[in-house]
Amino acid sequence: MQSEFIKSAFYPKDFPVHELPEVCFVGKSNVGKSSAINTLINRKDLARVGKTPGKTRLLNFFSIKTKELHFVLVDLPGYGYAQVSKKEREEWKKSIENYLKLRSNLKLVVFILDIRRDPDEQDEVMFNWLKAYNKDFVLLLTKSDKLSNNEIAKRLRELYAHPMVSSENCIIFSSLTKRGRDELYQKIIEYCNK
Ligand code: GDP
Repeated sequence: MQSEFIKSAFYPKDFPVHELPEVCFVGKSNVGKSSAINTLINRKDLARVGKTPGKTRLLNFFSIKTKELHFVLVDLPGYGYAQVSKKEREEWKKSIENYLKLRSNLKLVVFILDIRRDPDEQDEVMFNWLKAYNKDFVLLLTKSDKLSNNEIAKRLRELYAHPMVSSENCIIFSSLTKRGRDELYQKIIEYCNK
């Protein structure tokens, strides 16, 4: 798998122009988004680029080339930082919403949740956008290594009570053990070829 950083951008006019399918990763800050991206592409540090100070609000575009597929992976800025101002938070929302609204080659949204936590208010905002803009998504329930199999089964039952969560759109994931990595990769291939 070949992966390469393309660019960071904030405004839609600066997004890279290409014909490739796109897959974006979204989630709260610290949920494990960078780790999940690095696990998917078998790299230790690629997604760290979004973590340099002053760059956390940018969208990061990567070219990912495998035997089966050439696609663009987009790391959307993590939301929910406690220490940012209201204005910054609004800007963030706008840029993520704009991306979801405008990017016509977006094939799949990988929405990352900590398997141990229920979706919170900001995750709900994301759910509402996915519904409003009719986006295909998969829920990556990460940090599953922190739970036993019994605890995972219990959490799944609880999460399935949420209207956006079902057994069809969830992947139990761990960046530590790589559980779910191949399932995620297959999902991406499936949606990029649709
Ligand atoms: P991001 O802010 O969403 O990009 O989160 P990071 O990928 O930087 O992860 C935040 C913290 O969670 C780090 O300390 C990671 O080592 C840890 N982490 C991320 N994924 C996993 C996982 O699957 N299992 C465990 N045990 N820890 C994880």
